[in-house]
Amino acid sequence: MKRHPLRHSSGILLLLILLQWSCTLVWDTIWTGGEKKLESAHPESSSSGRRLIIFALDGTTPDQLMQAIRSGNAPNLAGLLGKERRQGLFDHAYAAPRAWSILPSSTIAAWSALFTGTPPAANGVPGDEWFERETATFRAPVPVSALDTADVSKVVSDDLIGKALKTPTLYEMIKKRTYVSLLSVHRGATLYTTVAPASFADFLSYLIKGTVKGIDPEKSFAAALDLSATQKLIEAIDTHGVPDLQVVYYPGVDIFTHASEDPLARQVRYLQFVTDKRVGEVLDAYQKKNALNGTYVIVVADHGQIPTLNDDHYELNTDDEKSPFAVLKKSGFRVRKPLLSLANLDADYQAVFAYQGFMAYVYLADRSTCEKEHEPCDWPRPPRFKEDVLPALNAFYQANRNGELVPELKGTIDLIFSREPAPTTQNARPFQVFDGQRLVPIGEYLRRNPRPDLSDLERRMQWLAAGPYGHRAGDILLLAKACLRVPIEQRYYFASISHYTWHGSACEQDSRIPFILAQAGGNGERMRAVMRKFAGAVPNQLSMAPLVRELLK
Ligand SMILES: [Zn+2]
Repeated sequence: MKRHPLRHSSGILLLLILLQWSCTLVWDTIWTGGEKKLESAHPESSSSGRRLIIFALDGTTPDQLMQAIRSGNAPNLAGLLGKERRQGLFDHAYAAPRAWSILPSSTIAAWSALFTGTPPAANGVPGDEWFERETATFRAPVPVSALDTADVSKVVSDDLIGKALKTPTLYEMIKKRTYVSLLSVHRGATLYTTVAPASFADFLSYLIKGTVKGIDPEKSFAAALDLSATQKLIEAIDTHGVPDLQVVYYPGVDIFTHASEDPLARQVRYLQFVTDKRVGEVLDAYQKKNALNGTYVIVVADHGQIPTLNDDHYELNTDDEKSPFAVLKKSGFRVRKPLLSLANLDADYQAVFAYQGFMAYVYLADRSTCEKEHEPCDWPRPPRFKEDVLPALNAFYQANRNGELVPELKGTIDLIFSREPAPTTQNARPFQVFDGQRLVPIGEYLRRNPRPDLSDLERRMQWLAAGPYGHRAGDILLLAKACLRVPIEQRYYFASISHYTWHGSACEQDSRIPFILAQAGGNGERMRAVMRKFAGAVPNQLSMAPLVRELLK
């Protein structure tokens, strides 16, 4: 699906995003020296003496992580876990054989769920992009459809995620000394570190040379970012002492995997030759302070990765002719442009898309409030099901089934969800499956059409959409064909950028995450017992906060 010539090369947008992001970091670092003391009333020293490090590895798949650990080429992680016994049990650790992300299996929503212990419908952060109909505001902390990147900067400089979250963060709940390195969710932490000022010249040279493509893990932009963040956080520990909780966020694994041909195999190499080294440096810093022994370590990810073809044919993007945007335009809806802020003349939109990779959210207005062109809709008001939602549902259903209106969309969508609209002042209702005739409850649909490849679908869709902020997942939710059971030539993603992997679906491959609890020098059987008691036999991202609270009690 072709668009603007400048964006034919998907690398360009990624470069622009990274450039913008690193410029933000430059600015932020010049301003703060790469660290920010956040306003916080938490005690300056530990009361219990217990310590925990969370390694938050973006986009790391459990099979690739275990492969790296077993390979002999990730000695720091392997040494921390100790000898492998059986079924996830190690001498000093327990790696849950199965653990799940929330939905969508996308970065911002998943870290928000992990670091609040609450699902999107309760915490108000449902994806990498979303629309807030109460104020008619579009947010894009990770732009997927959006063409501008201003919100990327605000994640670092303005605590965009902290301001959006409606529930307490883990740091606010534990009330301990907490340092957070790079993670988008940092509201309530004692100290927030970004990257070391000295490394910006390196970043810019990576960007200018265009070596963002994932060829050599050690020499990638991704690795430079992870290295710099590690240096900065170790510097902070040297200056301010060892915290009770240290969160170490590594975005590099995800950036490198998306950009690598043969992505899953390359991810293993990145974990071996970059991530493991950085983990070793953090553990060494603790060792030097005599603080490693007995320290708990959690290794967790936001989502996995599904291999895709890096070709804009597989992008369900935002153009006027061949995209989901075009389906609604050709059905008579005025569709919001994929930008954060709009000119006044463009403010009369009746439909909004927010993209999450394999998922898309569609928000609809009550069009009786804005029939005329240039008349803005009353967005706080819910749409009418029959007059506003149903025509859009039918248009997507027929485009997917017969190629009506947009032939290129035929066969690209796996499932279409919708629900009876509710005012934003009330709890949003659960999504149901649209079968071309009517809405069918997800459980009932799955009994008739078993889909074991869509893991724990009903419960995870409830978490996303049924609750006080559930309306932020839209009036219609489109799930693209993504699961491994369809060949790679039949996987499609809602995005303005093509990659070698995508995520955001309910499929096992991008929804299964690593979830490891270790204790330096500790007992693996005890780790397993603690994990099972406080996170359950099959943990999910909502289980981490209760587990951490217990460990640091
Ligand atoms: Zn991610």
